[in-house]
Amino acid sequence: ESRSSTETQKPKDYTLGGLLPEPSEFDPGVSCKSRSQQPHRKNYFQPSNELIRRLRRYEARHGKCADRAARNFFQPSESQDDDCRYVVWTQQSGFGNRLITLTSAFLYALLTDRTLLVERTEETAVLFCEPFPSGSWLLPLEFTGELIYSLDESSPHRFAHNFTNDRARGGSTETANFSYIHLTWTKDDEDKTFFCDESQVQLERVPWIFMRADNYLVPSYFFISRFSPDLGALFPDKEAVFNLLGNYLFQPSDVAWGRITRYYRYYLADHDRLLGIQIRTYQAKSPLPNFSEQLQKCIVENNLLPKVVVDGQSEDISRLREKKNGTTGVLITSLDSYYYDNLQEHYLSGRVESGESVAVDQPSHEEAQLTGISSHDLKAWAEIYLLSLSDSLIISGWSTFGYAAHALAGIRPWILLNVNDDQVHDPPCIYGKSVEPCDFAFPIGKFKCPSEDIPRDTNIFPYVQSCDDWESGGKLV
Ligand code: GDP
Repeated sequence: ESRSSTETQKPKDYTLGGLLPEPSEFDPGVSCKSRSQQPHRKNYFQPSNELIRRLRRYEARHGKCADRAARNFFQPSESQDDDCRYVVWTQQSGFGNRLITLTSAFLYALLTDRTLLVERTEETAVLFCEPFPSGSWLLPLEFTGELIYSLDESSPHRFAHNFTNDRARGGSTETANFSYIHLTWTKDDEDKTFFCDESQVQLERVPWIFMRADNYLVPSYFFISRFSPDLGALFPDKEAVFNLLGNYLFQPSDVAWGRITRYYRYYLADHDRLLGIQIRTYQAKSPLPNFSEQLQKCIVENNLLPKVVVDGQSEDISRLREKKNGTTGVLITSLDSYYYDNLQEHYLSGRVESGESVAVDQPSHEEAQLTGISSHDLKAWAEIYLLSLSDSLIISGWSTFGYAAHALAGIRPWILLNVNDDQVHDPPCIYGKSVEPCDFAFPIGKFKCPSEDIPRDTNIFPYVQSCDDWESGGKLV
C-alpha cells in the first residue's frame, strides 16, 4: 500500500466522523477490540451535527438512568423526583429482525429522551459490546424472565387496549406504571395507534415502556408529526438511519470479532473486490434449484462477476502466485450449501474470460434456523458483519438478515425477488432503491389515527416508498 507520510501520521479516527464515542471513554476493563479496530468500510454516511450532539446527550443520561433502573421500577415511590424514563427492548424472531427492532427502539429512546435497556439475550449480552460509555444497556437482573415472557398480546399492560387501566395502576407500590407496546405480526389496529401523535402524548407520562416488535419501525415514526422536526434534523439524509444507528449500536464483542477478523483475513482480505451473496428461502422444501438459476441470471444480466468460458485452456501453475490479474472474492451465506456448491462449480468448470480469478466461499451452512443457541447466533452475527464488508451485495428479498447486512454496509443491494416458489423470476433481481431496510408492516394507506378521517397515503411522505421486494411495505429513500 502506498500512502503518503502525512496520511500515515494522521491519527486514525475510531469514531466514524464523531458518530461513536472515543474508545478511551470506555472502561478499560470492558474489552471491546472491534471499537479500536474499525474496518475500512467505504460507505459510511456522515452523521449530522445534531445526531452527534444528541448521542452525546443520550450517553450522559444513560449512565445516570441505567444505574437506578431497578429501583425506579420496583420502588417507584422512592424515585418520585427522578426524571428518568425508559424503553425496554425485548427479543422476537431471528438475528436480522433483532437488529432492526433494536435500532428502532434506540431511535425511539433518542426521540423521547428515554433510556434504552435491553433484554439479556445471546446478542445483547454476549455478541455485542456495550454500546454506551457509562452504564450497561442490559436490563438489570431484578427484571425476571417471568416478567419479560408475560409481555405478549394477552398482557394486561398492552397499550391502547387498556391504557386507562394502566394509568390507574400508576403510582402503585408494587411496580412503576408501564405500558407494553405490542408490534409483532399479531398486532392489530389498536396497537398501531402507537404511531399516532395522541398516543405519544399519553405515553409521555408513562415512565416505562416495554416494546416487542419484529419489524423495522423507523419508517412509521415519520407518521408522528411531533417527531418530524427532530427526525429531519437528526437525519438530513433519510436513507442513512440504520447505517448510522446500526454502526453506532452494534460493535462485535471480542468473541465475535475474533471469528470475523480471522475469516476476513483467511478468505477475504487479499481480494481486489468483494461480492457478498445472501441466500435465504422460506420453503420447507429446500434447496431450490430454480433459485440457484435465478442467482446466476442476476449475476450475468448485471455483470456482477466476470464471465466464464469453457474452452479447455489451463494455465502454468508455477506462475500463478505472482500473476493474478485481479481477484474477486465471493462470500456466500446461507443455511444451505447448495447455492455455494453451484456457483463454485461454475467457476471451476471453465476459465474466467478476463484472466481474473474468482474465489467463492461460504463460512457455514447451519441447515436450519436455531436462534438462541450460542454457536449458531455467533455464526449469524459474524456472517451479517462479514457481508457488510463487501463492495457490493446480492441479497434475498423478504429477509431481514440481508437488510441488516446491506444497511450496515451502507450499500444499495441487488435484491433477488420472490424467494418462495419454484419459478425463475424475470427480472431475477432489482437494484434496491435505498440502503434502508424494508418495513413489511408499514401501515400506510390501511390505517388511520383516531383523530383522522381518512388513511394517509404515501403522497404525504415522499421519502417513504414501497419496498423493492414487498409492494405493501415501506422503506425510507
Ligand atoms: P429473516 O428470517 O430472513 O428475516 O432473518 P433473521 O436473521 O431474522 O432470521 C433468520 C435466522 O436464520 C438467522 O438469524 C440465523 O439464525 C439463521 N440464518 C438464516 N440465514 C443464515 C445465513 O445465511 N447464515 C447463518 N449463519 N444463519 C442464517
